[in-house]
Amino acid sequence: MSGGTARSPRLLCILAHPDDESLGVGGILAKYAAQGVETYLVTATRGEKGWFGPPEDNPGPTELGRIRESELKEAAKVLGLREVNLLDYHDGELEKADQCVLTQQLVGHIRRIRPDVVVTFDQNGVYGHPDHIAATRAATAAVLGAADAGFSEPGRLTPHTVSKLYYFAWTDEVRQAYEAAFGELVMQINGVERRAVPWPHWAISTWIDTSAHWETVWEAIKCHCSQLPGYQKLLDLPEEYHRVLWGRLTFHRVLTLVPTTDPEDDLFAGIRPSGTP
Ligand SMILES: [Zn+2]
Repeated sequence: MSGGTARSPRLLCILAHPDDESLGVGGILAKYAAQGVETYLVTATRGEKGWFGPPEDNPGPTELGRIRESELKEAAKVLGLREVNLLDYHDGELEKADQCVLTQQLVGHIRRIRPDVVVTFDQNGVYGHPDHIAATRAATAAVLGAADAGFSEPGRLTPHTVSKLYYFAWTDEVRQAYEAAFGELVMQINGVERRAVPWPHWAISTWIDTSAHWETVWEAIKCHCSQLPGYQKLLDLPEEYHRVLWGRLTFHRVLTLVPTTDPEDDLFAGIRPSGTP
């Protein structure tokens, strides 16, 4: 990093559930924290509907939410996150929440944290998850709203312009490795089946090598103890699978206000000198 007084670059991930940060984007959180980037997380819900154990052992939504919040905070420590914010929405109900209020809340966080880069899911919520889709929509609107002096939020904070916005863009190879680990990713929403929607390679702008950090990601995933029954196959996977799952992350750059060329290998390309640190 050049210049003793220059502030550290900042990355904000806007996600829906505890464990999205580890299973989804753990590789970039670990990698950039290790490089001295300040990493921040906003998670919309406590994931209190995520129970994979025997139904009779389910502690109920309030207690499970409390457990998952503490697991998230443990994972955040492993990943080197500077700050975790929970928005208090109910798991599975983000799409039904007041979208203007959600966007205002996110604008408040963006104006306070002042990130250079924002990362969220993609328009299909990776595999059609309505909470993920709602988070993507609100995060995208919030990046625009945060920069707009005419957009007000309760904190009345100074507008902030995010330099780059990314969507998490799964390849089909990673989708296959996930399904080998978790089984088929399929949801029934309003009687319609939703499956994973992988991105074609040509639409991926940004390929990030996170292979040096896969073990950190795996440590973070294992902090989500309440979810481990759902990860059983993952626990038994040989190391090669872990490398495929966590060793490279791919993104679609939705907007940039700084010059950059495709393909990128760094979310901060154009924001800090190349080859940093
Ligand atoms: Zn999720």
